[in-house]
Amino acid sequence: MGSLRERFWELPLADLTTPEWEALCDGCGRCCLHKVEDEDTGEVADTNVACKLLDCASGNCSDYRHRKAFVPDCLQLTPKLAGEIEWLPQTCAYVRRAHGRPLPGWHYLLSGDREAVIRAGVSAAGRVISETRAGPLEHHIVEWETEDDQA
Ligand code: SF4
Repeated sequence: MGSLRERFWELPLADLTTPEWEALCDGCGRCCLHKVEDEDTGEVADTNVACKLLDCASGNCSDYRHRKAFVPDCLQLTPKLAGEIEWLPQTCAYVRRAHGRPLPGWHYLLSGDREAVIRAGVSAAGRVISETRAGPLEHHIVEWETEDDQA
């Protein structure tokens, strides 16, 4: 993972190096799922429909390095956005740190186990369908875990 400082995940997001920032992601894949916004109320609903680049079995981007070439509007998170975007899961490592909360115990940086995010029930892995097969998003509205108490 390159040169990462000891317990870098406890530092403010704005102080992280690029490798540290990238390493903070728990790989849940939930930011890669489509949302549906109610035109009247502005309310945003979650779906189980994934970006075409998401590997639906693992919950990982299948071409993270080149994703912008295929999905130009792929979200580029920043420390500021992590604290502002309301549709990101509350379990997201960036959201937690943006609000001064510690990483959950299942996060791979603490547990040493990349699969622990799946066992914690907060990963998209195995629970989503690709946008290339899904059809209308309105048919795929789901309620995802929003609690962040799986620590
Ligand atoms: S929601 Fe957050 S932790 Fe999960 S994959 Fe996206 S950026 Fe990473």
